[in-house]
Amino acid sequence: MCKYGQQEFDRCIRVLEQEGRLSREQWKILLEGRTKERQEVLAHKAVSICSRIYGKQVFVRGLIEFTNYCKNNCYYCGIRRGNGKAERYRLTENEILSCCRSGFAMGFRTFVLQGGEDSYFTADKLAAIVRVIKKEFPQCAVTLSVGELEPEDYRKLREAGADRYLLRHETANPSHYRRLHPPELSLDHRLSCLAFIKELGFQTGAGFMVGSPGQTTDTLIDDLLFLARLQPQMVGIGPFIPHRDTPFGDEAPGSLDLTLYLLSLIRILLPGVLLPATTALGTIARDGREAGILAGANVVMPNLSPGEVRQKYQLYNNKICTGKEAAECLGELRASLAAIGYSVAIDRGDYITTKA
Ligand code: SAM
Repeated sequence: MCKYGQQEFDRCIRVLEQEGRLSREQWKILLEGRTKERQEVLAHKAVSICSRIYGKQVFVRGLIEFTNYCKNNCYYCGIRRGNGKAERYRLTENEILSCCRSGFAMGFRTFVLQGGEDSYFTADKLAAIVRVIKKEFPQCAVTLSVGELEPEDYRKLREAGADRYLLRHETANPSHYRRLHPPELSLDHRLSCLAFIKELGFQTGAGFMVGSPGQTTDTLIDDLLFLARLQPQMVGIGPFIPHRDTPFGDEAPGSLDLTLYLLSLIRILLPGVLLPATTALGTIARDGREAGILAGANVVMPNLSPGEVRQKYQLYNNKICTGKEAAECLGELRASLAAIGYSVAIDRGDYITTKA
């Protein structure tokens, strides 16, 4: 028997839908009052909100993991500086462009350039790459996800034409942030980067791992309150999955069900949000990404990186990078989405504002 009654649970959902914000206590009722039936009802609600705004379509983004060099040492991440076993690589500008070319031919209209924090790729170099991509593919969006930079660097990238920036906040709770990161990284700095990215007019993505070591209901409430304040256009959440060559190698992975539940809550909180069903979700469960769509997600990011580097960009063990996960198998992804009533949009898939 759940300690929170149906009436108070329903009241919280109503307030969330009508006001787009909840108190700590109300979030606690939603997070701790989760039951199988309530989860199903929320997933249904999330799907109907999403399809009212975007239709029954899923936006695809071609993910180009262009470098796995990283100067940071985050305790959870397989490409952390301290992982001497990681086989490092960098793509050249030409290799990145050729990923875009093959992606464009397959129907991708967004390219996501993601990498570790690699000082080789200065803002000037990256801006030059963005310019070349935008010149050749003016109808496509470019998303960057290269971590924390100086304000003038973000500005250069925006001026070069980058449309979107993904920077998961990882956790909005300061002591949880310290549990996940070495002392030279700070939550304050990460949040100030996010605020600046948004100010520059990037479609901005925040997010966090579900089930990262030290995460509690309280830290999740901090995350949800933070998302309500930031009002990002994108939110990336996926389960934490351990990587054996990191300090968190023996930790338990995050839960599929909690990830799906949070996807539904985030869809209700931020109706127009672009919400990926992540690779990590597809990694912990074979149909994880389809389950994500049926919980309110509306984006998938198939891997466009050259085949030979895909396993080297290993944030966690057992990462999927073939079959439906591979950009070249878009047909397979289309079929699995068609089976749950969705089509793949050949479209940039920009954020739609839902507020008057
Ligand atoms: N360097 C950029 C940054 O810091 O935003 C982008 C690359 S970073 C590797 C991308 C995301 O991978 C992180 O924001 C983190 O949430 C996720 N990630 C890293 N290690 C993970 C793990 N073990 N399990 C699940 N997700 C992980």
